[in-house]
Amino acid sequence: MAYAINALTNIFMNSITKKIIFLILIGGLVGLAAFYSYKNHQLAVINLSSTKKITVITTIFPLYDLARIVGGSEVEVSLLLPPGVEPHAFEPKPSDLTRINQADIFIYTNRFMEPWATDLIAGVNNSHLLVIDSSRSIKLMTDEQPDRSQSSAPLDPHVWLDFANLEIMLNNIRDGLIATDPTHTAEYQQNAAAYAQKLQALDRLYRDSLNNCANREIIYGGHYAFGYLAKRYHLTYLAAQGLAPDAEPSAHDLVQLIEQIKTQNIKYIFYEELSSPKIASTLAQ
Ligand SMILES: [Zn+2]
Repeated sequence: MAYAINALTNIFMNSITKKIIFLILIGGLVGLAAFYSYKNHQLAVINLSSTKKITVITTIFPLYDLARIVGGSEVEVSLLLPPGVEPHAFEPKPSDLTRINQADIFIYTNRFMEPWATDLIAGVNNSHLLVIDSSRSIKLMTDEQPDRSQSSAPLDPHVWLDFANLEIMLNNIRDGLIATDPTHTAEYQQNAAAYAQKLQALDRLYRDSLNNCANREIIYGGHYAFGYLAKRYHLTYLAAQGLAPDAEPSAHDLVQLIEQIKTQNIKYIFYEELSSPKIASTLAQ
């Protein structure tokens, strides 16, 4: 009986021991799996954070600003054109091409704003580069200055000076960032949506402020760059030059502008911050 009990206890104990060993083994395996899963997760997190940011190169400042706002901390944005450089007739250097060859995204305004971008893009040797035409789906308008008879009206590329267009550009840049880096889709969407609200508020402020202007004429001693802004707020915009800043204004155009200034008793002439105020000064004199 004692033996039997002992045997029974042995069997019982053996069974307990087996169960315990089994449980330890299972526990160990689960723990090991959890550890590796944790390790892998850790590794994945480390990899992501040590991966270089999405590198974005833009042509002009407004695009740089949009990319920086939408991309937030996930992107490294840089300007192709140094500040103050005339963007219409820019001549890219081989080093500019090298920079784009190493980037993830290249953003330009449109082929009328940066006609040189087409050749630059064609010369790129970077299979993963995403090129964003930020004006995609924006309808370009022509130089709408009165009394300027032009055989073939050129298209006005300064689209970002209309807040509605700027919002389309913002969304084009957002979509490009999402396509390149879908991991941060929610972040890009949030950043873009928040900025769109700011643009809409600014648009309302412009509209409300300009609504009661007695004088709706803007005389500009530079090239015809603010046509979209003028059109949006029903202002009459007269510029000394056409769409391209390199063309000298004709004597005829200047005489016409001076006539306008006199008849409408205009007291202010605007000029561009980073360009020579020569034409504006001439008009003022
Ligand atoms: Zn321009």
